[in-house]
Amino acid sequence: MAEKKAKTTKSKAAQPKADQAVPMEAAVSSQEPTAVKKTTAKKAGTPKKKAPAKKDEPAVKKAAPKKKTPVKKSQPAPATEEAKAEEIFLPQEVNSPEQQPLPAAEESPAAVQETAPAAEEINPVPAVPEQPKEEIPMYDTPRRSVAFIGSECHPFVKTGGLGDVMYALPRELVKQNCDVRVILPRYACIPQQYQDRMVYRGEFYMDLGFTGRSYYVGIMEYIWDGVVYDFIDNQEFFTEGRPYVNLVDDIPKYCFFSKAALAALNYMNWIPDIIHCHDWQAALVPVFQKTLFKDSPVGRAKSVLTIHNLRFQGIYNIPTIRYWTGLPDEVFQMGALKQGYEDANMLKGGLAYADRITTVRGTYAWELQTPEYGHKLEEHLQYHSYKLRGIVNGIDYDMWNPATDFNLAVNYDITNVLDRKWQNKMALQSELGLVQDGGKFVIGLISRLTNQKGLDLVNAIVPQVMDGNTQVVVLGTGDKVYEDTFRYYENAYKGMFSACIQYDEGRAHRIYAGADALLVPSRFEPCGLTQLNAMHYGTLPIVRETGGLKDTVEPYNTANGAGNGFTFDRYDAGLLLDAINRAKTEYFLNRYHWDEVVQRDMDKDVSWQNSARQYKDLYLELTQW
Ligand code: ADP
Repeated sequence: MAEKKAKTTKSKAAQPKADQAVPMEAAVSSQEPTAVKKTTAKKAGTPKKKAPAKKDEPAVKKAAPKKKTPVKKSQPAPATEEAKAEEIFLPQEVNSPEQQPLPAAEESPAAVQETAPAAEEINPVPAVPEQPKEEIPMYDTPRRSVAFIGSECHPFVKTGGLGDVMYALPRELVKQNCDVRVILPRYACIPQQYQDRMVYRGEFYMDLGFTGRSYYVGIMEYIWDGVVYDFIDNQEFFTEGRPYVNLVDDIPKYCFFSKAALAALNYMNWIPDIIHCHDWQAALVPVFQKTLFKDSPVGRAKSVLTIHNLRFQGIYNIPTIRYWTGLPDEVFQMGALKQGYEDANMLKGGLAYADRITTVRGTYAWELQTPEYGHKLEEHLQYHSYKLRGIVNGIDYDMWNPATDFNLAVNYDITNVLDRKWQNKMALQSELGLVQDGGKFVIGLISRLTNQKGLDLVNAIVPQVMDGNTQVVVLGTGDKVYEDTFRYYENAYKGMFSACIQYDEGRAHRIYAGADALLVPSRFEPCGLTQLNAMHYGTLPIVRETGGLKDTVEPYNTANGAGNGFTFDRYDAGLLLDAINRAKTEYFLNRYHWDEVVQRDMDKDVSWQNSARQYKDLYLELTQW
């Protein structure tokens, strides 16, 4: 451990100062990679941490067994290859660096229009992950190697659903016979417990665009559950306490990251069959790959770009992006990065250069090709529709499992949810200072507080929802206007309304378990994970019928009792109120049917298994040789 720490420090210290440009030829070999054996990295991890056992119940090891029929109330209660970096391939710059002027670092109009996602605080102390005890099942499809490249991944850094997907999908792909390596920025905000477990993997220097400098690229590695996580280390770009700051900082950061990720694959001599990149922050990866890296080993890999949220595209003026990338002129054409008169759109470029595009919208992937949901990229997506595929997200059953979740007051599964869920409700009420009453109808809302999430609808109807028998719990951070309004309501409805303006993973789990219903009234929702988490915890979703919410929540039918939750279609506060009132009617007057839906939702398959298989099929389709 002492040795590892020393290396960590050394790697930081090795970064060049701003004015110390290291020549390219010398730079790449400035430090031979330190061969770090996989076993070393494993050993470096601290021993598994056990979830605290509940006093009155046996520890539950696995996910609740799947039941085919809902239980009625009357039932009993309650590898990687070791890198030998013999040759290092880094791309050639297309133009001479010196000649390019440094664009002013002002915000372009595009930067003003498009703000980065609300920068929620990072979960301060996430639980230390456990190593699984069970055997990893192997499926009988051919083996493929995949490099995931993205800007966040639970439990290291997460601001929303992307972090969940980057965590869960690689783990599921490992079970489906894939060799997966996840490449992430080594942000300073990654909790120390994970920083301590990272093992130094190597370092090199890379030139970047027309900056005329060589930049330090360190690789820190952490192996967990069969997935290799490689963190790109650079103190100039990744020192902020949060991943997303503003476009002025974020554009250079992710230009650097996308190029460094490819250079790191070459450096480690680990050339995957597929490079799977995510959202605008990694969208330049296919562009770099097919231009500056096309003659290097990593240029051989096929690329998949997944759009998690089309709203954020990484748009900035062309001179700035040209300066930070050094990409050739041809990529700044209308068919690729260029947008409007003088802007470059990183996501648009990625869509043009990727071999396949996926969205997380399932059967509604076509919606992205319409002006309503296309965020001005609809025509570009129509042009590339032949390579567009919709694969809906799932949730990780190890991370989201009420039977084993150590965050909960009481664990439960489908057989005892009706007896135990209210205990979680009482514990939640006590934790949040709400009136403790298992009979109250508790509505949860767990969300980034931005206008995407339909919060103006919620704000408009809170007074009508607060009828004395209903409590509301909000967990989220984001736009001040929403934070302040929810704080106001907390004050106005003391003991009945709780506004938790924070990012707290454990509390989120307790709200899923303790609430009766979860609100997701989004203006648009590419996929949405909160409704899936809620259903898996026996909490009925109340959602607007849009995007992935429409894919995953079947409206409750009072005539035959079918469905998973309560829905409304138009973006209208009155319709949201109506959906909440329909839910209350079932809860207070028709509890038997409500309970049936609770059990049906817990029984619904929202796992990653199906979705991961579809990704695997896509990889196989791309790599038939
Ligand atoms: P988005 O990616 O648009 O933010 P998703 O529904 O896809 O929305 O994913 C949100 C994820 O982030 C869920 O896992 C949810 O539980 C989690 N989350 C959102 N806000 C918070 C918060 N304040 N505290 C803890 N977890 C949160």
